[in-house]
Amino acid sequence: MAFIGAGPGAADLITLRGARLLAQADVVLFDALTDPALRELAPQARWLDVGKRGFCTSTGQATIDALLVRMALEHALVVRLKGGDPSVFGRLEEELLALTRAGIPCEVVPGVTAAVAAAAATQRPLTRRGKGRSVSLTTAMTADGELGAGRHADTEVFYMAGRQLGKLGRALRGAGWPDDTPVCVVSRAGWPDCVASDHTVLDLASAALLHAGRPAVVTVGAGATAVQPRRNAPEAAAGVRTGRRVLTP
Ligand code: SAH
Repeated sequence: MAFIGAGPGAADLITLRGARLLAQADVVLFDALTDPALRELAPQARWLDVGKRGFCTSTGQATIDALLVRMALEHALVVRLKGGDPSVFGRLEEELLALTRAGIPCEVVPGVTAAVAAAAATQRPLTRRGKGRSVSLTTAMTADGELGAGRHADTEVFYMAGRQLGKLGRALRGAGWPDDTPVCVVSRAGWPDCVASDHTVLDLASAALLHAGRPAVVTVGAGATAVQPRRNAPEAAAGVRTGRRVLTP
């Protein structure tokens, strides 16, 4: 039984190890956010959609756990394919526990998590020398459905906040982030139709329309700013491109 991180979307962001293991799978239980093109890597397998998407219809977690155990007992190699990395907001704890209880050995293959895919797409490093020494990956959603935000690191990346950007902005200000703190919202990171936009904590609500209905991460603080050549630096004079175009609504 293997958990494989599929990366943030586009099929070519899966790791070689993940792709090789997928090619041997008998059954693949996959999530809504994984690229259908990944099926080409395992045409021999039975593909089962157990996708869960935010507040939409979903297969209950207990049902997925039970299905995983049943499949793993019946087949030589069952793959649980997860969007991004299985260890980041992927319900890996519950699923590992169910399999371990049933005595089924597991392997976890890492994947590219949305926060780093967004950093790559916008060419905005999450860590910066001197001013960006820590990064926190935070879910905006608490177990009871309430939105929560704090200030724990120089760069904070929020997952699952796409539908409540205005609320997140208010919560961030409440947590002590100054009004002019840079915020970068990136939706569908890793895909050709990725969109990124620049905001501040104060006007974060204005990002809602642009990213509506698309999976998005919200990067706050040091890692949210574009890399700027220093004034009078040789590369500035030569007009070297330092970042991909970022939309500002
Ligand atoms: N395990 C996944 C996260 C699953 S939680 C990972 O490591 O990336 C689902 C959340 O991930 C979404 O609400 C969104 O915040 C984020 N997400 C997933 N895919 C994304 C993408 N391609 N671009 C931006 N954010 C994404």
